Amino acid sequence: MTYVIAQPCIDVKDRACVTECPVDCIYEGERTLYINPLECVDCHACEPVCPVEAIFYEDELPQRWAAYAAINAEYFEQPDRGQDHPLIAGLPHQTSDKKDIAVFAIRKEEAADVDRWFPS
Ligand code: SF4
Ligand code: SF4
Repeated sequence: MTYVIAQPCIDVKDRACVTECPVDCIYEGERTLYINPLECVDCHACEPVCPVEAIFYEDELPQRWAAYAAINAEYFEQPDRGQDHPLIAGLPHQTSDKKDIAVFAIRKEEAADVDRWFPS
């Protein structure tokens, strides 16, 4: 089993999860981040810090995002990881309401240098 990053991360990418992961198994694509299922140690550290609740234990993925288990895994089978998984690349642009994310102020300092939602 593994943790999976689903649709809410797309075009948000604040990278709070990357900071938490003890084994550095969360990788950045162009529009979203991906968890490598072969490297994830199921520690749960990333899930509670995601400001848009994009991270799920594989068994607990909402049905509407069930495909994201395969999307995360298949990303690491691509020859060019500079490109998003084709299903991600084909999605329309997604926006998240800043006020929904800003309540996670504890992440503000860590994310300030990389996140357009948390300007310094
Ligand atoms: S569950 Fe732990 S090991 Fe897996 S991606 Fe999250 S922080 Fe990394
Ligand atoms: S914390 Fe959530 S929104 Fe931020 S990069 Fe990780 S999965 Fe994406």
